[in-house]
Amino acid sequence: MPRDLIAALDIGGTKIAGALVDGGGKLVARARRATPAQEAGEIVMREVTAVLEELSGSAQWSRVAAVGIGSAGPVDAGVGTVSPVNIPGWRDFPLVAGVRETVGDLPLALVGDGVAMTAAEHWQGAARGRTGALCMVVSTGVGGGLVLDGRLHPGPTGNAGHIGHISVDLDGDPCPCGARGCVERIASGPNIARRALEGGWRPGPDGDTSAAAVAASARAGDPVARASFERAAQALAAGIAATATLVEIEVAVIGGGVAGAGDVLFTPLRRALRDYATLSFVEGLEVVPAQMGTDAGLVGAAAAALPLL
Ligand SMILES: [Zn+2]
Repeated sequence: MPRDLIAALDIGGTKIAGALVDGGGKLVARARRATPAQEAGEIVMREVTAVLEELSGSAQWSRVAAVGIGSAGPVDAGVGTVSPVNIPGWRDFPLVAGVRETVGDLPLALVGDGVAMTAAEHWQGAARGRTGALCMVVSTGVGGGLVLDGRLHPGPTGNAGHIGHISVDLDGDPCPCGARGCVERIASGPNIARRALEGGWRPGPDGDTSAAAVAASARAGDPVARASFERAAQALAAGIAATATLVEIEVAVIGGGVAGAGDVLFTPLRRALRDYATLSFVEGLEVVPAQMGTDAGLVGAAAAALPLL
C-alpha cells in the first residue's frame, strides 16, 4: 500500500473539518463537526477526535503519510499549542498532543489558518508557481500568509504574514489586539458595514447589514457604501505595499467573503496601490482574487505538511 495521502484538519470557530488529501490536492475522504466554540477546551477537543476517528475508520487511512493542521490563531507551532480568539476554551491548548492520541507519531505540521490558505493558493491556486506572494483572507477578520523564495514561510510559530494587525493608521481606532489603526479594524467585513452605517447608509427592507449588503449598495452607486469599500481598499493597499516593499512579493492574492464584492473592492484597491507601492521594484505588483474556494483550509493544511513527506 503506498503512503501517499495527508490527513488534513481545518479548525475554526464554526466548524472542524477533516479530509484525506492526495498528492494532487484532491479530497478522497471527508468528515466534519460543528465547533462547540463556547464549551470547555476538552469538549472542543472531543469533536476534533471524532473527526479524526471518522477519517481513521476509512479504508484509505493506511495510506496516510503525514498530518497537516490549519487552525484559527494565534497558534504556536513550536510547542504545538493554539489560542484561537473565537474559541475561548482553548488558551495555549495542547492541540498537537491531543491529535497525537489518535494519529500516533505520524509526521505533523501545525499552521495558522491564514498560512494554510496561503499554502493552498501556492500549491493549487492563484499563487501557483510564484516566487513571492502575500495571500490574504478578508472576512470577519483579516488574516494572511507569505510565500518567499518560492516556498511557504510560516515563521517559527506558524503565524508569519498576519497582515490584519499591521497598523496603517497611526492614531486610528483601538483594535481588539491592543494596537491602533490595524488593517483589520478598517477592512474586515464587520468594520466595512459599521463605517457605512455610521456614515448614514441604511439597509434594504430585508434589514441585512452585512458587508455583502453594503457591497450591493456600492454596486448600485450608493456613495456612502462606495466610500466604505474605498477606505477598506486603501487600508489593504497600504498593508500590501508595506509587505511588498519589505520582502519583494510579486502578487497579492485576496480571498474571503469581502473579496466576493469583486470590482467594488478590487478596482479601488488597485488604484490605491498605485498611491502606496511607489518604488520601482514594487510597481509591477499584481492583485488577484483567490481561487481555492471553500476547501482552501483543508487543501492548505495538507500543503503545509507536504515538506514532511
Ligand atoms: Zn490589531
